Amino acid sequence: MASIDKQKIVESVPQKGFFGHPKGLFTLFFTEFWERFSYYGMRAILVYYIYYEVSEGGLGLPESTALSIMSIYGSLVYMSGIIGGWLADRIFGTSKAIFYGGILIMLGHIALAIPGNLTMFLVSMVLIIIGTGLLKPNVSSVVGDLYSQTDDRRDAGFSIFYMGINLGAFISPLIVGELMDYSFHLGFSIAAFGMLIGLILFVVTKKKNLGLAGTYVPNPLAPEEKKKVYTIATIGVIVIGILAAILIPLGFLTFDSFIALVGILGIGLPIFYFTLMYRSPKTTPEERSRVLAYIPLFIAAVMFWAIQEQGSTILAHYADNRTDLNFLGFDISPAWFQSLNPLFIILLAPVFAGMWVKLGDRQPSVPKKFSLGILLAGLSFIVILIPGYLAGTDSLVSPLWLVLSYLIVVLGELLLSPVGLSATTKLAPAAFSAQTMSLWFLSSAAAQAINAQIVKFYNEESEILYFGIIGGIAIILSILLFAISPKIEKFMKGIK
Ligand code: GLU
Ligand code: ASP
Repeated sequence: MASIDKQKIVESVPQKGFFGHPKGLFTLFFTEFWERFSYYGMRAILVYYIYYEVSEGGLGLPESTALSIMSIYGSLVYMSGIIGGWLADRIFGTSKAIFYGGILIMLGHIALAIPGNLTMFLVSMVLIIIGTGLLKPNVSSVVGDLYSQTDDRRDAGFSIFYMGINLGAFISPLIVGELMDYSFHLGFSIAAFGMLIGLILFVVTKKKNLGLAGTYVPNPLAPEEKKKVYTIATIGVIVIGILAAILIPLGFLTFDSFIALVGILGIGLPIFYFTLMYRSPKTTPEERSRVLAYIPLFIAAVMFWAIQEQGSTILAHYADNRTDLNFLGFDISPAWFQSLNPLFIILLAPVFAGMWVKLGDRQPSVPKKFSLGILLAGLSFIVILIPGYLAGTDSLVSPLWLVLSYLIVVLGELLLSPVGLSATTKLAPAAFSAQTMSLWFLSSAAAQAINAQIVKFYNEESEILYFGIIGGIAIILSILLFAISPKIEKFMKGIK
């Protein structure tokens, strides 16, 4: 988009009205707050819903299947951001994409709220995957549109937005987890209700607060391209439909082959993207060097999210099966542990922000922060193997072990996550700027695609080995990354 348009958009947004930030930040903050409220609330109980017995209100699937489903689900949610980002960039504009996404997400949660069977669950998964792909990358990218390139409130704006994400993620497991004891479906209906509030808020306040932001189609398809794209999309849907109709009854498309397919996509898509960026004629030699610098950082991010995301799969299972849920006389819900990560983020993000300001130029470089981030992720897994090592894996352990493990992951998350997105924006070639948000989310998608394969190896007997091996790999990667970080810094060509 021409820079004049960008300027016009910024001018159309009331520049004050939300803690000294553009009024539009209010709209985006609460839309994302409610969307994350519904997403993380749903995920906090979903794993239990899948493996609890039918007599307990669950679907009664095997535990290892439940853990894999959670991982592919998480992977596809972030993978679909590529489509969501593309649709906003070329067809709808971000505002419409957010609106349609919110509707689909709400319908997805409603499908889960209606007592049903596996089919209902699959329908809901499809709706939430497509809906989140439309909403999540786009709501984040509009945050950037509220500020002019030179506005120094920009980074603080993203930090406030990040607080909104984590506030939503903090509150909902507490509520939804409590309701799970009465009925899973009641819990899912709270998630649906949350998305409804978010949608209403978005629709009612967007005109006044967002001005022109999100109303443009940044890079519209030319009419002849449109025809081609629609034809390819229609043929694609038909081919997938026919293949599914033939392969599923014949037993070729099984659950395992589907997980494998997602695994291939999870790893293949980033490789495809990197090759595309590296070889594009629009990429300058300097940008090419930055693409190379970005690759090890991306791999580190995948390692990090692989461990962080197991917080809602493996550690959720650990909370339910290995943890003493009576703490100081209180009964705790296993779902409540999901509130720990966002709670620690909210408490510690300001501490980290203050520390970076204080350190100024003396703060570690991006590759060093990433290296420390995965070191901490690795340590969080080493910590959680200790109670099993000390007391055996058939007794219940104090919930404080999990609290400590989540705390250590969060220290890593604060080193890697807020830095990661801005590093992606700066290191990706200018011609690919519309896709940077989706590119960053691909690190979470790849991580969870890999998780879908490895969570199968987890059970109470393998627990110590499982945490030890994954934690150990993260620590080794951290050391390697630290060792090559001066090289990476050189390849970054002045980007900090
Ligand atoms: N917890 C963050 C969010 O939901 C992380 C996103 C990511 O995996 O990159 O926004
Ligand atoms: N910390 C995560 C994020 O920033 C939230 C979570 O894992 O609950 O959104």
